[in-house]
Amino acid sequence: MNNLIQIAYFLTAALFIIGLQRMSSPRSARSGIRWAGGAMLLAVIITFFWPGMHNYFLMIIAVVTGTLVAWIFAKRVSMTDMPQMIAIYNGMGGGAAGAIGAQELIAGSLSNNGMVLLAVCGGLIGAVAFSGSLIAFARLQGIMGSRPTVFAAQQPVNLLCLGIAALAGLWLILTPGPALTGLFFLFALLFGVLMTLPIGGGDMPVVISLYNALTGLAVACEGFAIGNAALIVAGTVVGAAGTLLTLLMAKAMNRTIANVLFGAFGQESTAAQGEVHGSLKAMEIEDAAILMAYAEKVVIAPGYGMAVAQAQHKVKELTTALEHRGIKVKFAIHPVAGRMPGHMNVLLAEAGIDYEQLFDLEEVNPEFSTTDVSLVIGANDVVNPAARTNAASPIYGMPILNVDDSKNVLVIKRGKGKGFAGIENELFFADNTRMVYGDAQEVVNTLVQSLKQL
Ligand code: NDP
Repeated sequence: MNNLIQIAYFLTAALFIIGLQRMSSPRSARSGIRWAGGAMLLAVIITFFWPGMHNYFLMIIAVVTGTLVAWIFAKRVSMTDMPQMIAIYNGMGGGAAGAIGAQELIAGSLSNNGMVLLAVCGGLIGAVAFSGSLIAFARLQGIMGSRPTVFAAQQPVNLLCLGIAALAGLWLILTPGPALTGLFFLFALLFGVLMTLPIGGGDMPVVISLYNALTGLAVACEGFAIGNAALIVAGTVVGAAGTLLTLLMAKAMNRTIANVLFGAFGQESTAAQGEVHGSLKAMEIEDAAILMAYAEKVVIAPGYGMAVAQAQHKVKELTTALEHRGIKVKFAIHPVAGRMPGHMNVLLAEAGIDYEQLFDLEEVNPEFSTTDVSLVIGANDVVNPAARTNAASPIYGMPILNVDDSKNVLVIKRGKGKGFAGIENELFFADNTRMVYGDAQEVVNTLVQSLKQL
């Protein structure tokens, strides 16, 4: 029976890897989710056959409650609230790994000191990922402000907390027991909170991704401690994928991981960026349609506002209308446009826009100098030239879409609202930019109607 269980766990691990591999492209991502979901279901079922397992009633209650809560929240969540949902689910993974460690440490059932050390490491990392993710959730959900929380002697207090947790963890190897385990987890959880407090909302994408990687690591440690192949493989895969994503996100925002964790991003005064000169020049939607109708190449740069307005289907209609006129249409996708990695890709794929038309930052930037019209739809920070030109700007150094190199720039937004970084955008004041005010879905719809009448 034991061999059968181990083989089944290896099968789930293989299914996880297939699922993850399929998630690498928007075309196959949905099926990737199903493969990984199937693997998770199999892992849960196998666990019921684990030798010495009892408390089946409690296990069933836990599985049913978890499924119901996750089902209801996942059905209700809007696309723009997805980052906080990911944050909380990441945290749950870390918490689950921590709980396995806690159970093993309290029971004192691990066979040797090496196993106890692994359970302690997994417990520490899992607890930090859990409580840190809760802070990330609170920031993104607006329960806490997005400014970093800083107080005097913060770093020594953080170090002290980590030190106590680490000492308690090492002590557990010598004398396992519930009281010491409690102390260990208390300080590990506290450290997760304290470590995340000084990180502002602007760095949350990197932080969520980092906690995702830590969760994977914690799961793998616990897998080694209790000899569970599925946990080892799934945890390692998640840890590696999360680490790569963290590095990519940090690169896209021009931040180092150390700077994200210890730099208290967002403390810079937004006033420090200096004055923006020029005036905002509005254009009627019908005139914008004429400008586009006589273009040869149009590049569309979508952002968070397109997601809020759910304008992606109208954007698909606009693309078709432009292509009917023989105009070449491309999409410029910034890696942190929107509020989660791949946000724009997911929305545009949902609307049926061909994946071949989506170009990432490095590919599309050289294209702008030969673009007749760049159409910015609800994007702000990711097209802000201050990132290139203004050393005093909080986003200085972040690679952006150079839409300002185009002959004409049309910007669709509702008014003078700032982007996520809360700063002014000199692109909107440039001589070659025209503002087309209104909700993205309504404006794009009118653009389509106007184009059809031309
Ligand atoms: P921004 O948040 O910078 O700007 C969005 C703009 O959309 C606003 O200026 C707003 O202006 C406009 N807008 C809002 N609603 C509508 C609407 N209904 N119709 C038309 N326009 C609308 O978006 P970007 O995509 O350019 O940048 C993303 C930002 O989010 C970056 O700073 C990134 O670091 C950050 N971030 C990214 C995450 C990720 O993983 N992708 C996660 C968390 C943060 P107005 O109010 O005038 O309409």
